[in-house]
Amino acid sequence: MSISSPVLNENEGGTKENYSFLVNKQKAFFRKEQTKNISFRLAALKKLKDAIKVNEQEIMAALKEDLNKSELDAYAAEIGFVLAELTFTIKNLSSWVKVKSVKTPMTHFGSTSYIYSEPYGVALIIAPWNYPFQLAIAPLIGAIAAGNCAVLKPSELTPKTSEVLAKLINGLYPEEYVSVVEGGVETSTALLEEKFDYIFFTGSVPVGKIIMKAAAKHLTPVTLELGGKSPCIVHDDANLKVAAKRVAWGKFTNAGQTCIAPDYLYVHKNVKDKFLSEFKNTIKELYGENPLRNSDFTHIVSERHFKRLEGFLDNGQVYSGGKTNSETLAIEPTVLTNISWDDPIMQDEIFGPILPVMEYSNLSEVVDGIHNHPKPLALYIFSENNQVQQTVLNSVSFGGGCVNDTVYHFVSPHLPFGGVGPSGIGSYHGKGSFDTFSHKKSVLKQTTLFDIPFRYPNFKNGLKMLRMFLK
Ligand code: NAD
Repeated sequence: MSISSPVLNENEGGTKENYSFLVNKQKAFFRKEQTKNISFRLAALKKLKDAIKVNEQEIMAALKEDLNKSELDAYAAEIGFVLAELTFTIKNLSSWVKVKSVKTPMTHFGSTSYIYSEPYGVALIIAPWNYPFQLAIAPLIGAIAAGNCAVLKPSELTPKTSEVLAKLINGLYPEEYVSVVEGGVETSTALLEEKFDYIFFTGSVPVGKIIMKAAAKHLTPVTLELGGKSPCIVHDDANLKVAAKRVAWGKFTNAGQTCIAPDYLYVHKNVKDKFLSEFKNTIKELYGENPLRNSDFTHIVSERHFKRLEGFLDNGQVYSGGKTNSETLAIEPTVLTNISWDDPIMQDEIFGPILPVMEYSNLSEVVDGIHNHPKPLALYIFSENNQVQQTVLNSVSFGGGCVNDTVYHFVSPHLPFGGVGPSGIGSYHGKGSFDTFSHKKSVLKQTTLFDIPFRYPNFKNGLKMLRMFLK
């Protein structure tokens, strides 16, 4: 298959966007029950997998044009990631969809208990620009696997990838089943006017609040995959060489435009100099002497984001990097030292290739520092000491993370991925995606052969019997 069908946009003509027609069409299709059929779902997933493989070059070209993503990055974090997710889902879906039989208490003697995973209906998926292919397709896999219809709105900030997504998906499925709608804030706003059965949003915290408010109007359940400032801690007993490489990779992949990139570094004062010198060498090894001339280094998505990031370069002291190219919107991997929580760079998620560094003497300073700020999406702790690792893991609340690594937890289909509190609601990946897009319907199947009488008001010793069982 090659990309051929044009984007379907029923709203061309210039008037206010309205998606009632599309959503109602999907609702009507959902009611036909075809999407609940396991063979139908598997066929849709296999079709998607084949189409992604066939269109790999077009997808890579779009990612290159939008963000200057290298083929390695485009395959690892976007195309390969969703292919692996599709393979895992296709392999396991038949067991996930099974009605689950669960235990029944003595009080319910004679009956059996089941949990049905039923699709919500019509899902809305809103995606961001930083991994514009993966973050659109990965939730879609969950929506399809669970038997939903879906409307997908990619980000307007990566227009080429959005176009490829629209052509790919709209050429693959009828619009009453799955449809991509391209557009920006107005399109999102118009879509949010509709009554969806589920909303899956990936993006910033402020827009997450707008989504939740819109969902509240219809009491639509949501998953919010948001962001925040994810700390990375390098303790005095860490393997510094390994830590330097894994922190540099996690931070500078995609030029730091990764929701779970280490946002800032807490390094123990005893190893600060040694770690930073190791880190500087690693950056050279990974991105070359002059990363601005490295044709494979990802660029910043827009001028607005470039200027915002440039504004941070006078915070603290530049330890390494610091150069920029306003024509290509590129910023060198940069390390800033002499940073405190009062600096502008520490007020919000950075989302760029700049790593502010703070030093500490006691782990309690780190724990307090993180506690005084919103719960992060990710956290990374580098230490060889299990007690240090456990202290951090047990005392800090965060979405998910790694011990002695960064970002890698995201890639396991066995680890549900999501935030907590201000960094997000809900999770997905692997079976987590299927569960997210399924309502768990609990059913008790009673016998009619007999009727245990305690619950009825006319049973003589009802209260006594109830006291025996319910304690
Ligand atoms: P964003 O919130 O600006 O936009 C995300 C989507 O929402 C886009 O499709 C956009 O068109 C739409 N949107 C923007 N403003 C809107 C509004 N007022 N009303 C309705 N819809 C609106 O986010 P972004 O800049 O595309 O992405 C960066 C953010 O996303 C960062 O904060 C990052 O941490 C977060 N993120 C989180 C994850 C995760 O999995 N948790 C993954 C990637 C990015």
